[in-house]
Amino acid sequence: MVDARKVKDNIARMTSKVSNAASGRIQPHKHCRVCFTTIKMSAEPRVCNDQACIDKNLRDERNQRQMRIWMFIFLGLFAFSFVGPIILRSVL
Ligand SMILES: [Zn+2]
Repeated sequence: MVDARKVKDNIARMTSKVSNAASGRIQPHKHCRVCFTTIKMSAEPRVCNDQACIDKNLRDERNQRQMRIWMFIFLGLFAFSFVGPIILRSVL
């Protein structure tokens, strides 16, 4: 879902970033992985100080971990559907 207010906020951040670049002092930096605003290089995890971004990042990480677990389960089942019958045949 796209939150119109958030989008407008992002555009405002982006335009402020552009004016920063125009002023000619670009320092090494990272971008918040949620709203892509510039953050400190040392920022870890890669999110800004916005609580909404911190929450979203945590949620995404949890989702990713869950996705990886499911992928392993499916891969395991997939592999077993090939290997299982061969093992069973060799045992019986
Ligand atoms: Zn952010």
